[in-house]
Amino acid sequence: MSNGNLTHKVLLVEDDAAITSLLRTYFRDSGFRLIEASTGAQGLAAAIEKRPDIILLDLGLPDGDGVDVVIALREWCRTPILIMSGRSDDDGKIRALDAGADDYITKPFSVGELMARLRVAVRHIELRETESPIFESGPLKIDFAHRYVWLNDELIKFTPLEYKLLSLLVKHCGKVVTHRQLLREVWGAEYQEDSQYLRVYMGYLRKKLEPTPESPKLILTEHRVGYRLAI
Ligand code: CA
Repeated sequence: MSNGNLTHKVLLVEDDAAITSLLRTYFRDSGFRLIEASTGAQGLAAAIEKRPDIILLDLGLPDGDGVDVVIALREWCRTPILIMSGRSDDDGKIRALDAGADDYITKPFSVGELMARLRVAVRHIELRETESPIFESGPLKIDFAHRYVWLNDELIKFTPLEYKLLSLLVKHCGKVVTHRQLLREVWGAEYQEDSQYLRVYMGYLRKKLEPTPESPKLILTEHRVGYRLAI
């Protein structure tokens, strides 16, 4: 990936030697520099010493649960964390996301899919650095300063709650946002298990934003986990 002269450092915390060796080969000419760790403890030490730009974290580590690594990292750093988890580990990935991980990818994954997720993470790092009041992606444009939303240049009206929900998805665009995160931030902590609110309001948003709300292209459902705004 070319991104000016910037090379992003990716810390890989993974005990599966086959995955590490695959990524080592692939990253060699990708514009990302790979830092390797094979346990949670090594990963935490490398995060402190090497200051990676992105952390790629396996959930099943020989010295413990990757969720604990997320919790420890979030004590002091905002570096994007991308979880790698097995198909059977829904609960683990939801806990990791709720603990502050940014996104997940399910094993076995294609390298192409992984690179797309890494590019999303890079985009978020850049957005954080340039903090613009205007967001634009595909047909969607938002002016955060004035709370205007346009779809294909047409101004769309939202209720305050709908706007709050949409702007949260936009803030995390391309990344999954869990049910719990959405409920907590939009409705409040006491509502974080009330997922029926979400279903109803996502329906309202889709009706306003999707040409065919029943097969959404913009607000994607991540089964059992949350929602993702496509970019
Ligand atoms: Ca593992």
